[in-house]
Amino acid sequence: MQKKPRIAVIGAGLGGAAAAALLEQAGFNVRVYEQAPAFSRLGAGIHLGPNVMKVMRSIGIEDELNRTGSHPDYWYSRDWKTGEIIAQIPLGDYALSHYGSSYLTVHRGDFHSLMIDAIPDHILSFNKRLNKVEDLGDVVRLHFTDGTSEEADIVIGADGVNSKIRDHLLSAEPPKYTGYVGHRAVFPISAVKGFTHDLCTKWWSDDRHMMVYFVTQKKDEIYYVTGVPEASWDMSKSWVPSSREEMLGAFDGWHTGVQSLIEASENVTKWPLLERDPLPLWSRGRLVLLGDACHPMKPHMAQGAAMAIEDAAMLVRCFKEVGIDDHQTAFALYEANRTARASKVQLVSHNNTWLRTNENPDWCFAYDVFNVPLVEPSSVLGAA
Ligand SMILES: Cc1cc2nc3c(=O)[nH]c(=O)nc-3n(C[C@H](O)[C@H](O)[C@H](O)COP(=O)(O)OP(=O)(O)OC[C@H]3O[C@@H](n4cnc5c(N)ncnc54)[C@H](O)[C@@H]3O)c2cc1C
Repeated sequence: MQKKPRIAVIGAGLGGAAAAALLEQAGFNVRVYEQAPAFSRLGAGIHLGPNVMKVMRSIGIEDELNRTGSHPDYWYSRDWKTGEIIAQIPLGDYALSHYGSSYLTVHRGDFHSLMIDAIPDHILSFNKRLNKVEDLGDVVRLHFTDGTSEEADIVIGADGVNSKIRDHLLSAEPPKYTGYVGHRAVFPISAVKGFTHDLCTKWWSDDRHMMVYFVTQKKDEIYYVTGVPEASWDMSKSWVPSSREEMLGAFDGWHTGVQSLIEASENVTKWPLLERDPLPLWSRGRLVLLGDACHPMKPHMAQGAAMAIEDAAMLVRCFKEVGIDDHQTAFALYEANRTARASKVQLVSHNNTWLRTNENPDWCFAYDVFNVPLVEPSSVLGAA
């Protein structure tokens, strides 16, 4: 009997975990290798739009997420100084009836932990940091820093913005620092004095912003993430500690609502916002990329992880459509059906215009990766 092709997923972040859960569910032979020794409840929140929640339904964690996260009634955009509402985008019940799934904001650690729980333990290995790839033609050999190696027939690079798989396919090149940082803080709402916050608000000035939302169903924890210009970044660091004092300087003169959050935040971290130009290829031979490994973006549409998760779902759909033995056709179909959308989201995120005015977000939120009509690779090439 012919053996099932072995699929290795490098990285168990949000994209890799989604790929692993969906591949396992579809009966493929999959293993996941993650460099971290374990995952902790990192101090960050995340938006899960209806486009992502449809994938969560398929993975089987939609109901639990709906019980875990906050369901904002609106996305409010407000002026930094006056607090005036400059846009109000309906979410809540409207999202559920209009898009067929909820719009959630949730603690990133809680979300990731549900995703990891959806993967059987025996297919996930922690403490496996990939440091070398050997493509031998009929098989790929993966070498890890602990001195071990594994073989696979197909390798999915879900290893984030500094992807080793991307480096192997193209050449080692660091991502671009955009000249912006994001400060992040999560804290109990009980610490916030003097202002009643909406469930989800982005405060805007011309050169910076603060996105604020609750991360639990109980609304006992609130989160902010900023976008603030900063000339340079030491690329050897993925984040550094920040402080209330630094935040007070960066948001001097801003509305009382923003000040109330800064006053309440004990632990603030600061992250570089990184990007890459669209890659000339997403796959070669037996290797394929997804998520931040191929299209890292500024987080200003709150859709970076969503794109990684949609990529994962589309890749699995293409394996099923074409058959796993013809992986190169599956890769071409996958790329043809993901590049335009990922590049558009990358561009809008770069420009930081999303929902600043009362625009219609349907093109983003209504996307259903399982039912969107597939385009053929040749029609994409022909159109180029
Ligand atoms: C400040 C900030 C705020 C953000 N807010 C949002 C938001 O609200 N909504 C949203 O959708 N997105 C947001 N994003 C973007 C989002 O975090 C990323 O787009 C998303 O995490 C990409 O998922 P991924 O699985 O591709 O990569 P990652 O989540 O980076 O996962 C990669 C995984 O691979 C592992 N790995 C790396 N190298 C190796 C190796 N050599 N061997 C083995 N394992 C390896 C890593 O440990 C990690 O677990 C934000 C980003 C930032 C910086």
